[in-house]
Amino acid sequence: MTSRRNFVKAGLMAGLATGIKPVISLADTGKQASKANYKHWVWINPDEKDKEADLTKRYARFYEAGIRGIFFENDSEKHFRAAKAQRLEAHRWMWTMNRGEKSLLEAHPEWYSINRKGESCADKPPYVGYYRWLCPSKPEVHQYLENDVKNILSKDYVDGIHLDYVRFCDVILPVNLWSDYKIEQTRELPEYDYCYCEDCKRKFKEWRGQNLEDISFPEASLSWRLFRYNAVTTIVNKLAAIAGSTKKPITAAVFPTPEVARRNVRQDWTNWNLSGVCPMIYHGFYKEGISWIGDAVTEGVNTLKGKFPLYAGLYLPDFRNIAELQEGMKLALEKGAKGISLFGDVTEDVLITLEKSSVKPRQS
Ligand SMILES: [Zn+2]
Repeated sequence: MTSRRNFVKAGLMAGLATGIKPVISLADTGKQASKANYKHWVWINPDEKDKEADLTKRYARFYEAGIRGIFFENDSEKHFRAAKAQRLEAHRWMWTMNRGEKSLLEAHPEWYSINRKGESCADKPPYVGYYRWLCPSKPEVHQYLENDVKNILSKDYVDGIHLDYVRFCDVILPVNLWSDYKIEQTRELPEYDYCYCEDCKRKFKEWRGQNLEDISFPEASLSWRLFRYNAVTTIVNKLAAIAGSTKKPITAAVFPTPEVARRNVRQDWTNWNLSGVCPMIYHGFYKEGISWIGDAVTEGVNTLKGKFPLYAGLYLPDFRNIAELQEGMKLALEKGAKGISLFGDVTEDVLITLEKSSVKPRQS
């Protein structure tokens, strides 16, 4: 997998429920799952060079191991149809708020987020060149994303939409990346704190009657924080309403726990109207051990209170051996995850481990 994706997955974020009822339940749309009814997933960037016969074999093996769906990072009818032929759900994985497409950058630089120093993601992306975050307060941005989701879901071979980068830029990076970027983020630095555009400031004033400029430490304002959670939640719930109208599920890849998601990337995912969620519980990014995977699942499941299923996202390169992987998978499932979502090289060893971990112990 690309280092780009690794970084991406390293950081995710959140917002305010509009009261729209949750859309399609993944539990309802899923086929009978393996052994203990878990529903496992894989994140894949489809390679056009893949041969159909190989895909048939690989996806049949996925199904046998308990995988029930694939999130494809690009549109590839060949891959989607090959997956569906093996009874897997084929979902489109979409970059949501981080949108660096050249056409958009050229046509609408004014749609991009502005940091507390006044710099725009359109011409001064933070951390890395592909970090091009849209402002979540602009109606034009909402419309653009809604059209994107409508187009994706209008295809008969697309079973659902999976949102990624659905958040603000990381105001705090996962601790394991600090040395890579030579930054110590023990506080919220202005160059990574978004969005201070005129639309966000105006909407905040309309909402709270307060000028953001009059707040001495906006990074410490709880109302300003909440405003930004809600801005993203509003977008997600609009996209969820579109998915609901097509009777297709909507899921998201999010930061590992509700607390980390709000703190690092202003992502309030437990208030979203999703069909399911895949927190990226990538322990290595946070310098944590395997047991933290169980803690993260517990926090997510407790906060969600059954609103929608949680699938624990595991980052395969972070596991030093198969025993560790099995421990991580077992912990996630024991603590209430309805399945595992895998990122990385899904080898036969990984599939066997997934099968072993999915067997529920007998109740005595
Ligand atoms: Zn803005």
